[in-house]
Amino acid sequence: MAQRTLVVDFDGTITEQDMLDDIAQTFGDGEVYREVDEGLDRGSVPLREVIRREFEPVRAELGDVVEYVLRKTRVRPGFRELVERAQAEGWRFVVVSSGFHELIEPVLAREGVSVELHANRVDPRPDGWRVLWSYGDDCETCGESCKRATVDALANGGEVVYVGDGYSDRCAAEDADRVFARRGLARWLDGRGVPYEPFEDFHDVARALVNGA
Ligand SMILES: [Mg+2]
Ligand SMILES: [Zn+2]
Repeated sequence: MAQRTLVVDFDGTITEQDMLDDIAQTFGDGEVYREVDEGLDRGSVPLREVIRREFEPVRAELGDVVEYVLRKTRVRPGFRELVERAQAEGWRFVVVSSGFHELIEPVLAREGVSVELHANRVDPRPDGWRVLWSYGDDCETCGESCKRATVDALANGGEVVYVGDGYSDRCAAEDADRVFARRGLARWLDGRGVPYEPFEDFHDVARALVNGA
């Protein structure tokens, strides 16, 4: 049987709140944030431009932002248990995020979780943070800086279970074998007629996967 790969988004999925949005508003420029966020919703500003412009005005030291992230981030219940369950079942578990290694790794370490992580990186320059991209900018399906090709490569022809909540999850989720979705991603899939399972926390996901495996 082909291997199962669990692909899990970070911000707003593993974490209860979207820390990228929080940092962009707290350490960046609130007006720019609102402008590009509305543009993303309307489809007039591409994702890569949104992230670039949100973090360009951030001039804080990385250590200060990491400290803020660790203080404010709460992880959705059942995350660690799901990682352990995946390990026990032989499922591959990969966190795939449009956020930054530098901010995600400290949270995973705090939770005592060691998993594969695919994310962008940031160069926290004093004259404004620069994003170092880990995803192509030209998805054949959506045209965005998109997780789909990365997820395809990770799954290597096996079953993909996708867990996500937002804009950057749309294209990869549509391509997955099974989807757990909440918030914006759930609304998007509703509109596209793509089936998914709603979830509150990772206990829900684990239960569904173990019972319905
Ligand atoms: Mg998200
Ligand atoms: Zn795409």
